[in-house]
Amino acid sequence: MSTIALYPGSFDPVTFGHLDIIKRAARLFDQVVVAVGSHHTKTVLLPLDQRLYLLEVEVNALNLNNVRFSTFDGLVVDAARNEGAVAIVRGLRNTTDFDYEVQMAAMNGALAQQVETVFLAASPATNFIASSLVKQIARMGGDISAFVPETTSGAIGELLKK
Ligand code: ADP
Repeated sequence: MSTIALYPGSFDPVTFGHLDIIKRAARLFDQVVVAVGSHHTKTVLLPLDQRLYLLEVEVNALNLNNVRFSTFDGLVVDAARNEGAVAIVRGLRNTTDFDYEVQMAAMNGALAQQVETVFLAASPATNFIASSLVKQIARMGGDISAFVPETTSGAIGELLKK
């Protein structure tokens, strides 16, 4: 039996922080499904198909052979169940993430007892990176190349030119 983990997120855009979590999760689980959420409540910069495309490009460049991709539009626990995942992976950068994520893990645990949430502490090299700040910097014409890979920064540059 292989253990599958779901790594859900908005990935608007994918950052070096997300890629670090994906690499590390891929060492811990037999398979990692990176699931892009189309949350209706969030105002996004990149449309769902572009967030998914950029994730695929950037993750494929890492040459991991046990990562696949999906999208979801409902509860994370339902996405986990649909993928046959035993765990939901989340990254923790700071106490703000911690407070929110621990509560979320408890809610998800109450909704689906068989799905565990596994937290990975963000790596020191990338623990300050947040997609929301990357978007703000890009909108103000700043250089985002230290936070996101090249294809992604190029795509955001093109999008904001329009
Ligand atoms: P969401 O809207 O679900 O929070 P995000 O794309 O912002 O989606 O984040 C997805 C997951 O990745 C979350 O668990 C978040 O804490 C984690 N994450 C985001 N940025 C980083 C980072 N720099 N280092 C480690 N984990 C991160």
